[in-house]
Amino acid sequence: MTDFVYAQPVKIFFGAGQFRALGDILTQLGAERCVIACGRHFAPTARAMCEQDARLCAVFGEVEQNPQLSGVAETARLARECKADTVIGIGGGSSLDTAKFAAAIALGDADALAYYRGEKPFPAKRLRIVAVPTTAGTGSEVTQVSVVSHDREKKTINNPVFMPTAAIVDPELSASVPPRTTMNTGLDALAHALEGYWSRNHQPISDLMAIEAVRVILANLETAYRDGANLEARSAMAYGALLGGLSFALPKTAACHACSYPLSEDYHLPHGEACAFTLDSFVRLNADERLEALCRAVGLRGTEELAQRIAALKELAGLRRRLSELGEVDVEKLARDCAAHPLMNNNPVPMDEASLRAMFEALR
Ligand code: NAD
Repeated sequence: MTDFVYAQPVKIFFGAGQFRALGDILTQLGAERCVIACGRHFAPTARAMCEQDARLCAVFGEVEQNPQLSGVAETARLARECKADTVIGIGGGSSLDTAKFAAAIALGDADALAYYRGEKPFPAKRLRIVAVPTTAGTGSEVTQVSVVSHDREKKTINNPVFMPTAAIVDPELSASVPPRTTMNTGLDALAHALEGYWSRNHQPISDLMAIEAVRVILANLETAYRDGANLEARSAMAYGALLGGLSFALPKTAACHACSYPLSEDYHLPHGEACAFTLDSFVRLNADERLEALCRAVGLRGTEELAQRIAALKELAGLRRRLSELGEVDVEKLARDCAAHPLMNNNPVPMDEASLRAMFEALR
């Protein structure tokens, strides 16, 4: 048994209908003035909620996929204007990450860009963060990560200042997620669990959650994709994605996420699809006795069956699986950019430009 340090500070409210108790939860947390960050799909509901509860003061309802620093700055500005004590992110990972970043900088005196570039340390005090995921994917509700874009750069910042105060995980909110997004986000959650498990920094408690996340996701993702109204499958996926977030929160992700950044930035794959693109390849590359044990624990014969299940899920939803589907691909540059990503160092099998080039060549 190796030594480890484990901490999980987020108060998690899980269950169908939990979001309807938002008012009670805000009271429990002592929140008195809140701003909401969300995407366009939720903005009308958020505005209606403000009419009902005077503690909900303002809405930034323009969060985009690959959320922009400008949205973070605007949410922080609204929070200052309202003298807010809480920022509530409602939506996919993009909305949660916007809310987390805005809460971190709202009480600072510098420009959002100065914090983004690391030119200024985050202010000592931040606002309370309530994270309400409406996709079953990122696990951002339990991580200290915020992924935000500025100009053409998509940057992941890992800082305790982003750790939510509370998460409200209500599977009913995910019933409206379209099938393809259900598959993208579900495979992102699967990638979190697998990468947390095979990360060089994995540890026993995170491992347990990773195994359970893989089991739950493999048993329910296809049903959630085919039948979005199936609340049982949506609940299981919400739980699987939450466990996925918990399983990588401390160990961090590895090669598959490292590759997702160039695939998103240069070939415009949504985050989940970008992670899924190489996930079955890395299952094969990282296959070892530990991964075999995970496969047996979730009822699979071994790593080859896991890789095939992932490929089949991608095929079912029509996700891109080969480089030829991405347009003109510069494999040299892709391999170089993937190798340079810091998360590549967490992979159990060392990967360099040459081995990544070989992996991508096999995906032509
Ligand atoms: P997203 O937040 O970009 O949302 C995808 C799309 O689904 C958007 O158009 C959104 O409006 C829509 N949507 C969301 N919920 C919906 C619902 N209930 N009904 C209908 N439509 C809905 O996608 P995501 O995959 O959840 O998040 C991806 C982002 O999160 C990326 O920027 C990624 O890098 C980041 N991320 C962050 C962490 C973290 O720990 N902070 C972890 C993984 C990924």
